[in-house]
Amino acid sequence: MEGGSLSTAFCTFARGSYSALSPNVQALAPRTHPFDQWLPHVGGPWRAERHGAVAGIHPPRATKLPGMNHIPQQTVVTLDLEGVLIPEIWIAVAERTGIEGLRRTTRDEPDYDVLMRYRLDLLATHGLTMPLIQDVIAGLTPLDGAKAFLDALRRRTQVIILSDTFEQFAQPFMRQLGWPTILCHQLVIDGERIADYQLRQPDQKRHAVQALRSLNYRVVAAGDSYNDTAMLGAAHAGFLFHAPPNVIAEFPQFPALTGFDDLLAAIEGALAS
Ligand SMILES: [Mg+2]
Repeated sequence: MEGGSLSTAFCTFARGSYSALSPNVQALAPRTHPFDQWLPHVGGPWRAERHGAVAGIHPPRATKLPGMNHIPQQTVVTLDLEGVLIPEIWIAVAERTGIEGLRRTTRDEPDYDVLMRYRLDLLATHGLTMPLIQDVIAGLTPLDGAKAFLDALRRRTQVIILSDTFEQFAQPFMRQLGWPTILCHQLVIDGERIADYQLRQPDQKRHAVQALRSLNYRVVAAGDSYNDTAMLGAAHAGFLFHAPPNVIAEFPQFPALTGFDDLLAAIEGALAS
């Protein structure tokens, strides 16, 4: 064997002089991971040399090779539902029933629990049942242009709807919108009565965006109300859409848009930047 016996090679290797071995011996004792298991005590210079620490360079996996193309981060868009893609459900119920108090929405009340307790009290007071609300919802359609906007966006990237509505309310709209992914809450139904509601998770919109970021996604978000601002702030870029003047005034850091074409262009720009 050129350069000595295998035992000589081993001793030389164990002293940490791997690079001093002849090419033929290196072929017999390659720098492969099994040696880490066989010779955990070796370490030292050989291990340091192998990982580039001696030469002061980074391990190969962190080295950008010449000519390597930039790999863009994968993207996802999170969208609010009511006020962005569909009408405000509770306002439609208010118009059907004439109960003005049901016009109060997340655009007016920053505390969602306060708002929902207020709504549930009104439902109980007026004896409004789940079938009545479902009947109202059955007569509603997505906002003009919403389906085309959503389709265009879903051709460009992944889209998740993050809503503070409830599965029981959302389903008819998801059918009309082509069954996009939605994360929202649940109503607690007792017979025909809406007895309570169950949040999927407090502050779920912000948590969802943070979770997506932890999965190495670039996140762009859009919403219209107070309950969207934490989501917009957690995303890499956030836009207000169809937002009322009070929300726009309180959150000037988020560009405020009113047309689906403008929103699509803004999102595409943010996805690419
Ligand atoms: Mg909304």
